[in-house]
Amino acid sequence: MTMKQERIECSKAGCRWTGVYSETSKIRNDDGISSACVCPKCGCNSFYELDEPIPSERVDHANELIKLIAIYGREFLSHEGTIAHIELGKGGKVFYVDAYTRRRVYTNREHVRWSGFSEGGTMQSLISHLKRYILEGTPIDKRLIANPGFYQDGGNIWGYDQREAEKLREQAFKLPMFDQ
Ligand SMILES: [Zn+2]
Repeated sequence: MTMKQERIECSKAGCRWTGVYSETSKIRNDDGISSACVCPKCGCNSFYELDEPIPSERVDHANELIKLIAIYGREFLSHEGTIAHIELGKGGKVFYVDAYTRRRVYTNREHVRWSGFSEGGTMQSLISHLKRYILEGTPIDKRLIANPGFYQDGGNIWGYDQREAEKLREQAFKLPMFDQ
């Protein structure tokens, strides 16, 4: 039998780490024989199993953009080699899985700070735009991506190095979600 690869979510309300069983740590139980899987973040040993995300082309595009943002410049939307991603759940629920907290952040409410979201307001706004693209097909404004027109000296609001920002924009704009 192969190791279960179902996605799981830590049951502890303050944690809600998500991942797969192979990423959990194993501890020996008090009986000295059996063992339990524990959450790598909080040590809790009870998990919920998550439904498989619903396949979606637009979610794939959004995740390609997130990858590009994570490899250039200041590497937003990533943490120690883990890159955030978006997934679509039942009933059109768009979740952002944060690279640092590893929590599934429900992106429905736009004007409140999302709990479990470790990035700043600029990234939260971008993820909100991606949610609208995923659900409604609303194109993304190119100025939302490390826009160099924001400052007189050509710097961008993200604080990405200018050349890194240019490379990112060049790659990103090949994706189909942008206004041409
Ligand atoms: Zn946990």
